[in-house]
Amino acid sequence: MEEGRAPDLKVSDKEQRLLLFVEQAPVAIAMFDHDMRYLSASRRWRTDYGLGERALHGLSHYEIFPEIGDAWKAIHRRGLAGEEVAAEEEAFTRADGSIQWLRWQVQPWREASGAIGGIMVFSEDISKRKQAEQDKRESEEEFRVLSEAMPQLVWASDIHGRADYFNSRWFEYTGQSFEEAKNLGWLSALHPEDVVRTQDCWTEAVTKGAVYEVQYRIKGRDGTYRWFLSRGVPRRGASAKIERWIGTCTDISAQKDLEEGLKSAREAAEDASRAKSEFLVTMSHEIRTPMTIFMGAIQHLMEIDQSPEHRQLLEMADSAALRLLTLVDDILDFSRIEARKINIEAVAFDLRACVDEVVRIFALAAQEKNLVLETEVAAEVAERVIGDPKRLGQILVNLVGNAVKFTHAGEIRVGVRSAGEILEFSVTDTGIGIPPEKHSRLFERFSQVDSSLTRRYGGSGLGLAISKGLVELMGGHISVQSAAGKGSRFLFTLPLRLPA
Ligand code: ADP
Repeated sequence: MEEGRAPDLKVSDKEQRLLLFVEQAPVAIAMFDHDMRYLSASRRWRTDYGLGERALHGLSHYEIFPEIGDAWKAIHRRGLAGEEVAAEEEAFTRADGSIQWLRWQVQPWREASGAIGGIMVFSEDISKRKQAEQDKRESEEEFRVLSEAMPQLVWASDIHGRADYFNSRWFEYTGQSFEEAKNLGWLSALHPEDVVRTQDCWTEAVTKGAVYEVQYRIKGRDGTYRWFLSRGVPRRGASAKIERWIGTCTDISAQKDLEEGLKSAREAAEDASRAKSEFLVTMSHEIRTPMTIFMGAIQHLMEIDQSPEHRQLLEMADSAALRLLTLVDDILDFSRIEARKINIEAVAFDLRACVDEVVRIFALAAQEKNLVLETEVAAEVAERVIGDPKRLGQILVNLVGNAVKFTHAGEIRVGVRSAGEILEFSVTDTGIGIPPEKHSRLFERFSQVDSSLTRRYGGSGLGLAISKGLVELMGGHISVQSAAGKGSRFLFTLPLRLPA
């Protein structure tokens, strides 16, 4: 730089110090003489204006930058005339038409004689900052437009949870003004019963920085309350620190009404079903009592009246009464299961003896039909288990009874195995079978595969429904494997419990 200094420019010591200061300055600063020729420029000035390392001393600013506009020239002239001029921010149009934002200052410097020697120009390119401000304004405007476009009530708050923005839907719906709603004022639009819960939830979300989600009722202008789902999420800054909260309130009243309606409909249905089951329990019981008297009387008459004609009539009455009693018993059992009015016992009993007893009941009937009826209890099955032998017997009677009823040739096997914590029972026959499409409805009450079969085989259609109810009450599961004409296998499991 020294060698570029024009010999005719004499500088005093004081000026020399000033030049040095300018060169070292950490900002963009340049010193010019009266003809706008460079005396000195800081490093920053050189980089900002693309001047590199070239010698500047004595070179005219306007010759280096012929594109310098009249606006700048006028400012320079004012400085050279002794004025101090500055601007915090000012837009200059560059030669290529782009806008440059500058913070600048122009100050005259004086020679030892007191005469103006030239000007010092300081300038800082603040275009980036201006651009960032512009971007921020645009994104805020976009948020505002978006929140106005939303059908929900939209709100925003500062990091402490003090609301400072609502979209106009909020004001339209609640009738609140911004002054009324700001900070925690929005809470006063909520249903009194929901305020504490909501405030707690909001405080917790704000302290923890977790997603805020709560349902509450907001009072509308018309005085009625509607349910809203309010959700808020924190907006984090570059350092992941929470800067604001933004949220919405969605009207869920219709959905709530539907839920309420469904719930009360379900409750009503359950109540009705319970009442019906209780009625059936009572009725069956009431029918049973006179029935037993009735049957006792028939038995008695059979003993004393020996005329074959009367005997035949009494036998018909007896078997009809027995069928009726069985039906009443089934209805009673089924209703008890539905009304959950059944006690399952937990006693230690001999499992093999229980199975044998059931098989014994059907031995004669099987024999009459020429059917093989066998039990296979696997060796690993414990002698004694804990459970309800009466209910287990009842399930087996239903399944073996059906097997005998619906099998005309072949065999019926009753099997028991144990695997881990589970006992598995099976009743397999070589009977008429059940088509697969009927399997799903088989365990429903009053379900019979074919009504023509009912007339042939009798039955109430309650046996399997009762069996399923009992198996499930005991913690097990029942299923069927069968195909028409291929026989059937009914399987059920029970949890295995051993006596201590
Ligand atoms: P039901 O008193 O009519 O036997 P269940 O509930 O015990 O009532 O059985 C319902 C229907 O399932 C029966 O009517 C019959 O059609 C069919 N079913 C049950 N077990 C068998 C079986 N082992 N073989 C063929 N069909 C069966």
